[in-house]
Amino acid sequence: MSRKSVAQSGCALCGVKEVSEPRGKARYCPDCWDKKIAVEEIVAREFELKRYIRAENAEKYLVYHSTIKRPCGQLVVLDDGYDLFLTLVLYPIFAWDDPAYHLSGDPEGRSFSDLVIDKVAAEVVEPWGGGRWHLEVFRAANPEPEEWNGEM
Ligand SMILES: [Zn+2]
Repeated sequence: MSRKSVAQSGCALCGVKEVSEPRGKARYCPDCWDKKIAVEEIVAREFELKRYIRAENAEKYLVYHSTIKRPCGQLVVLDDGYDLFLTLVLYPIFAWDDPAYHLSGDPEGRSFSDLVIDKVAAEVVEPWGGGRWHLEVFRAANPEPEEWNGEM
């Protein structure tokens, strides 16, 4: 789709002509964008990152979702003094590829795996001081983390 035709179609959710969000590829009016962000924040709140290893230059977290008792992911953070290196492992116990929410008419749905990355950025990268960071996401073959993680 060309930029012009996107602009002509107006806000993807309510049809209002003035679109300004997100910057660079505006498809939503400010009100609808706020609504979309608010919904994403609510969905992200269902995830919890529990830190169980804290070293000087590294941390490890288990990722929980409110709908299941067992952890559904884990995150390793490494600080080499310059950049932050994050490794996120997602376990198939959770439906990571499912759409995280539905807004009627929304052309840009996001999956749970997208939103958990937002959560990692907000709750791990930013408190660490932000700056440059690199993230690798892996899908685990095991259904959930090994039992030795379970006691933490
Ligand atoms: Zn709108």
